[in-house]
Amino acid sequence: MDTVKIHDKEFVPYLKHDEIQEIIKNLAEKVYEDYKDETPVFIGVLNGVIMFFADFLKYYPGKCEIAFIQMSSYMGGLTSTGIVYKKMELTKDVEGRHIILMEDIVDTGNTIESLFEYFKNTQRPKSLKVASLLLKPEVFKKDFTIDYVAKEIPNKFVLGYGLDYDELGRNLPDLYQLAEGRINH
Ligand code: 5GP
Repeated sequence: MDTVKIHDKEFVPYLKHDEIQEIIKNLAEKVYEDYKDETPVFIGVLNGVIMFFADFLKYYPGKCEIAFIQMSSYMGGLTSTGIVYKKMELTKDVEGRHIILMEDIVDTGNTIESLFEYFKNTQRPKSLKVASLLLKPEVFKKDFTIDYVAKEIPNKFVLGYGLDYDELGRNLPDLYQLAEGRINH
């Protein structure tokens, strides 16, 4: 894995594709333990979730359905501004179902918080949980917990495997981390 450069930022290798697969497989098995007698609906929160969602589903051995919603948070460069809005409507009605929101990364938790409100108010789910590939515990200070987390990471900007910097880098199969002190001008 080589260093990746996007605009003036340099990103260094962080987690290889094989290691990512391993943590996702473990996560899928953990979720299945809790839902094996149900048919949950996994809701992919676009765009960043695409790779994680596809791989998670391949490892999930039980019955399930899927749907999508798109949320966006206004980013101020590499940090989220805390303002979240719904960009694309939920792709199907999931009223009264067991819902699991699937996220690429939970940072401040603002996106998940507003999704909770939206689903509670419009879909009256039988249950509502969250699964995230990554969580930054140093930043996440909400009074709810993220039910399933594949990996906790330090408070550094990550790129690849669905996650972008200025809409670039989503197609990288591995995860990268911003190289501190190596920003070129
Ligand atoms: P939150 O609402 O939890 O603060 O942030 C959620 C969204 O911010 C994520 O779905 C993602 O789009 C973006 N985000 C937060 N941290 C990172 C990061 O380290 N890298 C990338 N590429 N996006 C991030």
